[in-house]
Amino acid sequence: MTFRGSFSCDACQGAMQMTLDEAIQPQHQGCGYIQWQKESLRLLETDLGGEILQRLQQISAYREQFACHLCGACCRLASQDADYATLLQRAAAGDDFARQFTSVFLPYPSREAARQKAPDLVATVLAETVEEPEGTEQVFFYHCPYVGEDNRCTVYGTEKRPAICQSYPETPLVFIQPKCAWQPWKQETHPQTLMAHALLQVSEQLRKRLQSALSL
Ligand code: SF4
Ligand code: SF4
Ligand SMILES: [Zn+2]
Repeated sequence: MTFRGSFSCDACQGAMQMTLDEAIQPQHQGCGYIQWQKESLRLLETDLGGEILQRLQQISAYREQFACHLCGACCRLASQDADYATLLQRAAAGDDFARQFTSVFLPYPSREAARQKAPDLVATVLAETVEEPEGTEQVFFYHCPYVGEDNRCTVYGTEKRPAICQSYPETPLVFIQPKCAWQPWKQETHPQTLMAHALLQVSEQLRKRLQSALSL
């Protein structure tokens, strides 16, 4: 976006002082900056988008070097920032993650019940996620009924097992318990994953606005 200086328009006096927000608005007919908008769009769709995706693919490939040791912890205790009713509402409103999550996970009847099942894990989640003002709960605990006695997934390979389980722990939002086999991978790659997702989001917004400015 900084190469705007290579473009010029006689009609747009002081265009170099344009903010990015102004520069991605529709321009007047024949404006020299329309070429800049086209070039920016091309860069977003090819070079930049490709680079971010490539980086995410590398992070994903690196994950293959670690292997789940079947402790079952991620199925027996998952945490979310919302209670079950809210997750169901999100799912009904089209939130795909919430839809997948509620298709298998059930809430613990109380925090105490979760604590009895996995005291260390509940304590770690509470210490590492949000601060809860006295007397409130901001974190909610869930378990999946499909985990077997041997810690294996009893719906493995069926349609019942949602994609979020298949791609676990490859989501920037998930809490990974300290003893999980993928904790070292997560620690190493988390900042880059977050950055890549943020860049993707920003570039997607810019791409849409440029497309609309260019009436594409
Ligand atoms: S569906 Fe299988 S992998 Fe997913 S949480 Fe349940 S038991 Fe675990
Ligand atoms: S917590 Fe990690 S190591 Fe344990 S079962 Fe889940 S993915 Fe595997
Ligand atoms: Zn102009």
